[in-house]
Amino acid sequence: MKPAIPQDELQRIQALHALGILDTPPEERFDRLTRLVATLLNVPIALISLVDSERQWFKSKVGLAVEETSRDVSFCAHAIHFDDLFVVNNAEQDKRFADNPLVRQEPRIRFYAGQPLHASDGSRVGTLCAIDSKPRELKPHEHQALQDLAAIAETELRLADIQALQKEIGKQKQLQEAKEAELNQFFHLSIDLFCILDRNGNFVRLNPAFENTLGWSTHELAHESFFRHVHPEDRDSTAHHIHELSQKETTLCFENRYQHKDGSYRWILWSFRPLPKTHKLYAVARDVTDNKRQMMELSYAKEVAEQASQTKSEFLANMSHELRTPLNSVIGFSNLLMVNQDGHLSDTELSYLDRILNNGKHLLELINQILDLSKVEAGHSEVCLQPVNVCGLINELFQLFEPQISGRPIELVLDSPLPRIEIHSDRSKLKQILTNLIGNAIKFTDQGRITVHLELQPHTDSLHHISVSDTGIGIPTSHLQTIFQAFSQVDSGANRKHGGTGLGLAISRSLCQTLGYHLTATSQLHQGSTFTIHTTPPLSPYFSSKDHNGEQS
Ligand code: ADP
Repeated sequence: MKPAIPQDELQRIQALHALGILDTPPEERFDRLTRLVATLLNVPIALISLVDSERQWFKSKVGLAVEETSRDVSFCAHAIHFDDLFVVNNAEQDKRFADNPLVRQEPRIRFYAGQPLHASDGSRVGTLCAIDSKPRELKPHEHQALQDLAAIAETELRLADIQALQKEIGKQKQLQEAKEAELNQFFHLSIDLFCILDRNGNFVRLNPAFENTLGWSTHELAHESFFRHVHPEDRDSTAHHIHELSQKETTLCFENRYQHKDGSYRWILWSFRPLPKTHKLYAVARDVTDNKRQMMELSYAKEVAEQASQTKSEFLANMSHELRTPLNSVIGFSNLLMVNQDGHLSDTELSYLDRILNNGKHLLELINQILDLSKVEAGHSEVCLQPVNVCGLINELFQLFEPQISGRPIELVLDSPLPRIEIHSDRSKLKQILTNLIGNAIKFTDQGRITVHLELQPHTDSLHHISVSDTGIGIPTSHLQTIFQAFSQVDSGANRKHGGTGLGLAISRSLCQTLGYHLTATSQLHQGSTFTIHTTPPLSPYFSSKDHNGEQS
């Protein structure tokens, strides 16, 4: 009959394996016991058998050559079901064992007496047993001897248990030490400050970075109060933060001034965290004095620059206004004189007057544009949003420009997917931008076509962008980046021919920004240019598509 499996089998097997004794070489401390059993009980076979999941393995054996047998034929696998000695007087007549191969064949077991061996958790992991090939009875003193020797075997087994435990502890300790050594590397290598404070705010441990940053050696600060070198003015706020940490387990960052050994103070950024289990505070810190100084300088410089820019814009706005009044008189009276009602003025005088008038007008345009730009840049330009019919606005502008192109081989074309496209915008600002772009296109195109193209967002009827393309002189790549800057013109020769102030595109781009739009340009020299107002935010700051194979700004 096969031995049954004990209820605590899983735990039993774990306890047996934890002993670390299976398949180890024979040991005298166990062999001594089996020899005693054989002698005291006068039996040919004595064993220390450990019952593994599939086999019984003999840690010590007398009178048997094999190392192990299958668990199915094992007498000990029956014995481990009991706390007391398990005895079979005549196996041949016991129906549990009569057909057992170890009974029917060699070693022809008849008598078996096995005392279970317990591991430290109480699991019965095997037996100390006596076996005879003759049937017999166990005498009381033999019973006692087997139990006593089994008790010694158990002690020896548990010793193995303890040794295995000690080995494991040693291994864990080594691992722990290796980990600690690894962390210590960081502690020593870090250029940031690392420290641990006890519950009274005294340094328990510091890294060498303290000496590099603050001049104090770790030895000098050890067991000192953290607060001792905090700037007197920062002590209250620092104490407040530390107190906060005693209330909750959180990471807290704060800055304070900390005294250097040379007496000066450095700005230190601390990051503290408590560990309630150890009643300690852990901190990493960094010297931010230089950053702090730079930030203060930057913020001061920014304030000064903003103030200067504001003053400049206000000055320009005032000046432009003051200049316009006398200039209007110059232009007005020159106009009157040009009429030459009495015919007193000679042709030379009239040509002088013509120059005064033209230059006066140019100056007035310049002043008006400076005024515009300074207004937009100073943020004084108010946005008045309303529904704007873009096609209507462009047709209106085409009519305004009609006199300028009449008689020239230029045509103005509106290319719109819908007859009416409405957007929510500031009409007069959009008109100013488009006037400048169409005006430039006309100015810089001798012949061909100026096309205003409206592009809708895919699958919608909302406007994606407006582009103004021409077939004019184009803009060299090197100038595409700069034409949006104030007073920037491509070349003086061309500008002398075409006139202009160099402010139109700067104003247009600023106005676009005010409206939340983005103005870009692409061009190819001698082929033409395209200026695009992106009315919806682009995916990237600058679109990557290139019209005319040209560059883009
Ligand atoms: P302005 O036209 O008064 O000179 P802008 O700021 O409007 O000033 O334009 C700056 C310069 O950009 C122009 O002088 C010209 O050199 C160049 N530019 C602008 N638009 C075009 C265009 N459509 N074709 C060629 N060059 C252009």
